[in-house]
Amino acid sequence: MGAHEKKIIIGQKFNKLTLLSHRIVGKYRMGTFLCDCGKIIESNYSHVKNGFTMSCGCHFKSILILRNTTHGLERHPLIKIYRSIKARCYNKNVKSYKNYGAKGVRMCDEWLRDFKSFYDWCINNGWEPGLQVDKDIKGTGLLYSPDMCCIVTKTVNNRHRSVSLFAEYQGNQKPLMEISELTGVKYGTIKWRLENGWNPEEAICSTRKYKTNKRKTAVKP
Ligand SMILES: [Zn+2]
Repeated sequence: MGAHEKKIIIGQKFNKLTLLSHRIVGKYRMGTFLCDCGKIIESNYSHVKNGFTMSCGCHFKSILILRNTTHGLERHPLIKIYRSIKARCYNKNVKSYKNYGAKGVRMCDEWLRDFKSFYDWCINNGWEPGLQVDKDIKGTGLLYSPDMCCIVTKTVNNRHRSVSLFAEYQGNQKPLMEISELTGVKYGTIKWRLENGWNPEEAICSTRKYKTNKRKTAVKP
């Protein structure tokens, strides 16, 4: 060991490896190290010190597992959902583009850039096979993003899609069917009122309220 070489300290830790003992073997200084995972290995001391060797190999293995997991997502059902949403919004050649991209429906940058971010959101929000990503119930219906989307069953999603009439309810555009359920006012009643020029606030008033309303002269069909 030259004078320039720093003192070798037993117990010193480099990344995941703690030095237990060391000796010269031929041209090299070899060390016995305890890895964080509990495994004991023999390694070239300078390789460990320089960070060339960072663990017994478990660190590298865990990176590989992580990569494989991400790669495995290629076959996850959510990738199909992700791709079809993207296509609807941005690919003029798909049939549904006219109801999405052409109407200004977009996907947020975060999801657009990274499938994993979309995937994580879906899983954290309870997605499982058979469930769909809905942008209409919570949001304005124009953006696929963490804030604007929720996970729903196909039935709920279809109901929202099939009902073309939307009205503002508590600051959000919602399908009349849902407003009807939330307010207890019949779907047909809300529809009739809106078609007859009532403002949305009046149109969703319960019967008792609208009787005291100045529009009470309006006659139901
Ligand atoms: Zn290890």
